[in-house]
Amino acid sequence: MSDKILVSGATGFIASHTIERLLAAGHDVVGTVRDPKNTSKTAHLQAMSGADQHLTLVAADLTDTDPFSAHTDVDVILHMASPYAMNVNDAQRDLVDPAVQGTVSMLTAAAKSPRVRRVILTSSMAAITDEPDGRVLTEEDWNDKSTPARNPYYYSKAMAERAAWDFMEAEKPHFDLVVINPFLVIGPAHTAAINTSNQTFVDIIGGAYPAVMALNWGFVDVRDVADAHVAALSADVPAGRYIAASANMDMTEVVALLRASGYGHTKLPKFKLTGAIGTALMKLASFGQPKGIGSYLRTHLGRIPRFDNTKIKREMGITFRSPQESIQDTLADLTKWGHIPAPKA
Ligand code: NDP
Repeated sequence: MSDKILVSGATGFIASHTIERLLAAGHDVVGTVRDPKNTSKTAHLQAMSGADQHLTLVAADLTDTDPFSAHTDVDVILHMASPYAMNVNDAQRDLVDPAVQGTVSMLTAAAKSPRVRRVILTSSMAAITDEPDGRVLTEEDWNDKSTPARNPYYYSKAMAERAAWDFMEAEKPHFDLVVINPFLVIGPAHTAAINTSNQTFVDIIGGAYPAVMALNWGFVDVRDVADAHVAALSADVPAGRYIAASANMDMTEVVALLRASGYGHTKLPKFKLTGAIGTALMKLASFGQPKGIGSYLRTHLGRIPRFDNTKIKREMGITFRSPQESIQDTLADLTKWGHIPAPKA
């Protein structure tokens, strides 16, 4: 059965893959963008198969007063828009306000539309933890450590998701809420824009890392995250939170994979500072980094974000690509867009 679906932040990395799938499945999609006339951001959406008949783009900014009420005559809402940046000038203005206000505006608008049966919120692992402590993280875990000064992006995502659950508890609306919490989302992009997560590889290849550090990431492929958002449309999927993550890889393994993939001629870090002393040194050096990057390094160096992805596999039937496959496809895509040099055999 085809639904009418509102997707906020339609220009985004994850939203673009999701909209492609929604159109392919025959749904009608209303996508919100900041500026529908900005064809450099919307042309790829308009060019998608089915877009001419089934995609409408409308203007909405998360910080506007009531940006969404005019567009919620839909069956399901995917609220994906949120600023994604690790380092900003003013955390409250640039991250927290749009994330929280946008989420509350969307839920308030949905509550006024009897047609809405479900809201699907793209939250993040950032709402689960900002300082992995070795335990296996589940949907029960909450990041209650971030502040506007400490990991501000994480704070914005945790506050936005909390605001959503608080809204559901206080207002008891007629729709239910599914929340998807992806870890680091990588993979091919629909546009030349480099997503903050794919930027990790551009930085490693471009020499931004002075050494291989004790960093470990939980990766997930953007195509699998998009599949999860589409699977979540089904009424058979219970309301609640869903961790979306495939597997972990540490920086040593990532750099080895990049080298084996033909990037040995680039500025890949050679020295290893992954032991206790190296990690202490890197934590000290992190104070010389921009604030958002510094706090990320201090809370993540030497830590492994272990997680349990059983729930999303069981309830949504998601099978995850391996990080190795996703990284290879990301490298090919970054090369295609000219963000990194071509590999050498
Ligand atoms: P993108 O930066 O590609 O997409 C973010 C989207 O949000 C863009 O469409 C952007 O619009 C929109 N947006 C930002 N600020 C505003 C605003 N003030 N008003 C209206 N729209 C706004 O990131 P992703 O696709 O990666 O992120 C999508 C969602 O997934 C976000 O909620 C993010 O927090 C979450 N997420 C991402 C992860 C990742 O690793 N990529 C991991 C976990 C969660 P514009 O094009 O105009 O800037």
